[in-house]
Amino acid sequence: MTGRTDERRAELAANLARVEQRIAAACEAAGRARDEVTLIVVTKTYPASDVRILSELGVREVAENRDQDAAPKAEACADLLLSWHFVGQLQTNKVRSVVGYADVVHSVDRVRLVEALSAAVMKSDRAGRELGCLVQVALDAESGAQGARGGIAPDAVEGIAEAVTAAPGLRLDGLMTVAPLAGAYAGQSRAAFGRLAEISSCLREMHPAANMVSAGMSADLEEAVAAGATHVRIGSAVLGVRTGLR
Ligand SMILES: *Cc1c(COP(=O)(O)O)cnc(C)c1O
Repeated sequence: MTGRTDERRAELAANLARVEQRIAAACEAAGRARDEVTLIVVTKTYPASDVRILSELGVREVAENRDQDAAPKAEACADLLLSWHFVGQLQTNKVRSVVGYADVVHSVDRVRLVEALSAAVMKSDRAGRELGCLVQVALDAESGAQGARGGIAPDAVEGIAEAVTAAPGLRLDGLMTVAPLAGAYAGQSRAAFGRLAEISSCLREMHPAANMVSAGMSADLEEAVAAGATHVRIGSAVLGVRTGLR
């Protein structure tokens, strides 16, 4: 092993420990058990070698937001015991590739995408393995509209949830959101995640098993855990600050 790899491993281990401490403290403050919250490490822009180190450090859930980067990385890490989450805006022409490695797609935000995902799963060699789907909620979107960072307005969630439930090969797991940068919830991540939790309660009246709430990133994981998130998606606090806008 090279000295460089050792250094990176030490850095990732220290960052992971800090994030773990933050999640544990947030759970304690919220009166929640630590095992109610799952850490998903967002490895976008970082190499497969980092994913390998994370796996050795005990990480089991990783996420990516662009198929072009995710597909080769997942292939390079196919020997590892990892669950891959797709969290980026998803074009229907990428769906076939994504269902080849993803276990859960967090960014389901239109019926057309549901149909494409279902068709791709049924044609793939996933051997009866269902694809988990989260409906992405855009808290800054007007009724019926898409959000600037993907997702659908809250009043369209139930329609998409129904479509997922009816689609062969797909499993409705819950909801995802990204704290809005604009609109009434800009800078109000606690309120935004609270609103997501309300929408989740409504969803679970019709779909009791759809209990995943994916919310919270490096900057706002405490607010997400306080509001009831079951999955936090952490990138830069584990891997380092990304250069560029992604
Ligand atoms: C990049 C990304 C994250 C992680 O963001 P950090 O601020 O680096 O923790 C979480 N969710 C989505 C959808 C992302 O694209």
